Amino acid sequence: MIRQGPVIDRDRVYRGPDEAGHVFLTFDDGPDPCFTPRILDILAQASAYATFFLVGEDATRFPSLVRRIAQEGHEVANHTWSHCHPWTISSRVARQEVSSASAALADILGHSPRYFRPPHGRLRRSMMDQARELGQTVVMWSLSAVDWGPWGGAVRIGRRLRFVQRGDIILLHDGRRRYNRPWETAIALTGFLLHLYDRNLKPCLLDWIYKYGGLIARDTDCAHRKPR
Ligand SMILES: [Zn+2]
Repeated sequence: MIRQGPVIDRDRVYRGPDEAGHVFLTFDDGPDPCFTPRILDILAQASAYATFFLVGEDATRFPSLVRRIAQEGHEVANHTWSHCHPWTISSRVARQEVSSASAALADILGHSPRYFRPPHGRLRRSMMDQARELGQTVVMWSLSAVDWGPWGGAVRIGRRLRFVQRGDIILLHDGRRRYNRPWETAIALTGFLLHLYDRNLKPCLLDWIYKYGGLIARDTDCAHRKPR
């Protein structure tokens, strides 16, 4: 249903290695002035780190929120400038969507993002090429919370997330774009972090996959506290 793909398929990553007990939380479609802070607070209580795939035009509206995400130890990543569906735009515009968001985030943070995720998870060659040329790795996911639409209530989200396995890259949303329900995500998140703690699964940054992923069971500095 919601699990997919090998660890790395050609030029994109779907999961981390499962040798160590790490999982990788990702939040898409922010920053959102209401729900991003709420989710940051919940993550901080559990010393959990996540990657936020931000929409460039919203990042420029809320630059202090972008800085807060980074200052609290999370990764800020590229989710295009305006979240257009990759299949509905020209190749030229598709490339611009990647590069404009990258430039906007670099302006705010002082460095370019290192990861890119296409809107709706729809792969488009020109976007992938542009991301690669900017030095950004394309990151998909292996487990989706489906925190949108009629099945995106907190109870169902929580139920889906209980399928989590070592190495999963988990798709969640902190932005209100379209049918997203980040208020439900926020409700489900505390319980999910507790579940991860009970199963000794540590939420880590994507860097871990690249820095340590080849080393089996290497202990890292991914702190993980029992959520309050
Ligand atoms: Zn998105």
